[in-house]
Amino acid sequence: MNALELINFGAKELRQKKINTSRLDSEILLSKILNKKREEILTNLNQEITKYHFCKYKKLILRRSQKEPIAYIVKEKEFWSKIFFVSPDTLIPRPETELLVEKLIKIFREKKISILDIGTGSGCILISLLSELKKSKGTGIDISNKALLIAKKNADCHRISNVKFLGKSLESELNQKFDLIVSNPPYIKSSEIKNLQEDIKRYEPRIALDGGNDGLDLIRKVIYKTPSILKVKGMLALEIGNEQFKKVSEILIKKNFRIEHIIKDYKDNVRSIISTYMSN
Ligand code: GLN
Repeated sequence: MNALELINFGAKELRQKKINTSRLDSEILLSKILNKKREEILTNLNQEITKYHFCKYKKLILRRSQKEPIAYIVKEKEFWSKIFFVSPDTLIPRPETELLVEKLIKIFREKKISILDIGTGSGCILISLLSELKKSKGTGIDISNKALLIAKKNADCHRISNVKFLGKSLESELNQKFDLIVSNPPYIKSSEIKNLQEDIKRYEPRIALDGGNDGLDLIRKVIYKTPSILKVKGMLALEIGNEQFKKVSEILIKKNFRIEHIIKDYKDNVRSIISTYMSN
């Protein structure tokens, strides 16, 4: 069989399982197996594929047909034009989170700040910020030690050294006040987890998604904790869920934050709020 035949075979299998991105996924999986860039494969579709590679490829197609996200199969995801390692212990970085990173880089460009990332996961937010804010330094915390190992690996891979990753929760002491706190906390209502896409609910870590009864448990905790770990006039940047803007902004205002920027996603939903902590 040649590459084209394999891609067609894989795409057909995935299409039958109602995977929308069947052809693209089939191409990505073949490029993973052959350890070549997708473009390289597409410009050489006549190349013969060995039986050994075909067997390996079929296994990946099977995994994808069971709705396992491509990022977990290939163990990486692009975010902020960089490749991040991911594992089932980390959420897969999302493009809407890049909008938050973009805005923060604009605000803090050339500044020397200290950043705390709460629930750092793969470290994608913090590492992307530090890759541009070269004078700044960062701390990423997470309750998942397995996620922290991935975050460290990502920082090393992108040669980010002004960062540390710590296994801490919001109850832990941090003994420091930061200039910027960023968090993409779990914010899905527990009762809504069952309505998420199969890919997400079956494979992504529940502790990274589940925000409790109203989805705001962790967001509240972050906001309540912030005064003890954020400098006055420091900024808090939170990613939130669809339709949480009103409630979250009310909590922020009640707790003496001033809302500075809101970031909407590609569907025009407010997905992040950047606020300033005004006073104790
Ligand atoms: N900070 C990571 C991300 O944005 C993980 C977030 C999480 O696990 N809720 O992808």
